Amino acid sequence: MSQLQNISLPGPTITPVSKPFWDSIKEGILSLQQCDECREWIFYPRNHCPHCFHDSLTWKQASGNGKLKTWSVIHRAGHPAWQEYTPYIVGVVQLAEGPSLLTHLPIKEANLVYNMEVTLDIHSVGPHPLPFFKKKEEEHQ
Ligand SMILES: [Zn+2]
Repeated sequence: MSQLQNISLPGPTITPVSKPFWDSIKEGILSLQQCDECREWIFYPRNHCPHCFHDSLTWKQASGNGKLKTWSVIHRAGHPAWQEYTPYIVGVVQLAEGPSLLTHLPIKEANLVYNMEVTLDIHSVGPHPLPFFKKKEEEHQ
């Protein structure tokens, strides 16, 4: 996955609602919306809270930490530009704040463990910085 900067891919689809998310990724930060009413954290970006339907949501910096809940080894890429990087790992990370997201995991398959701690690891794919997750190193080493 080291040559990802040379990959030619369409970028993420950025809408007015999701733009703050992608702007923060460019700065190396994971941001999530938090509902001002029920305080739940929300991902993917939306106009209304999916928990209480309130429309007052505030972008806040998230921890960038989560746990790996499931994953797949991709052998046949969904976009032709990814094919030369197969096999690679895609999985679902449950963020410490609660929401889950689908992400790339530049981790060897043999090192993947259910519920392992992972942390934000931004990779440039072509010109687009994307939020991948990597194994979280022990903090007491
Ligand atoms: Zn809410």
